[in-house]
Amino acid sequence: MVGAPGAGKGTQATLLAERLGLPHVASGDLFRENIKHETPLGRRAREYVDSGALVPDELTIELIADRLGRPDANEGAILDGFPRTRPQAEALDKMLARMGGRVAAALYIDVDREELVHRLSGRWICSVSPTHVYHEVARPPKVAGVCDIDGAALMQRDDDKPETIRARLHKQLPPMFEVVDYYSERGVLSTIDGDRPVAEVTDQLLHAVTSPAK
Ligand SMILES: [Zn+2]
Repeated sequence: MVGAPGAGKGTQATLLAERLGLPHVASGDLFRENIKHETPLGRRAREYVDSGALVPDELTIELIADRLGRPDANEGAILDGFPRTRPQAEALDKMLARMGGRVAAALYIDVDREELVHRLSGRWICSVSPTHVYHEVARPPKVAGVCDIDGAALMQRDDDKPETIRARLHKQLPPMFEVVDYYSERGVLSTIDGDRPVAEVTDQLLHAVTSPAK
């Protein structure tokens, strides 16, 4: 699965995994699981995570290979959160080839950049109780700018402001487009319109998996 933050990749990966009976392998979850169970790979990953550093690609690839080697992934898996760069995509292909597998389909959930900004920047928090959280799209308050629970004013954190989100996407999107191009060159890319309702996106994804792009 390929998509920008806010494109609904995680949600769709979960739905797709259920419908196809395949495990949903999210790289972030793999780190957490292995660290929690103190596996040898998890102990190595912990050093990076604890120091706030990025886990190196080689180690992430090892973690994914380890996960794909489990029996429930015999028929395949839905990979989510990796690869995020072209070198990672190349490394993934090499690893899969060693295991006798391949990327059968790269599913790109395409969402308009300003729609991403809208989705990601829609979070508003109660100025009195920060646990009262709203979202312009997903969970709007009854009256705009006012907390349903206590009537206090709603405010936006800097991290959730459109200009912050725009700057973040400006950095995150170019490497993702390289991944999209990489799979397009290999003839396995399907582009799905992620501006559609969730159920429609799921249907399109299922269709793309069962009749992969040529
Ligand atoms: Zn409140």
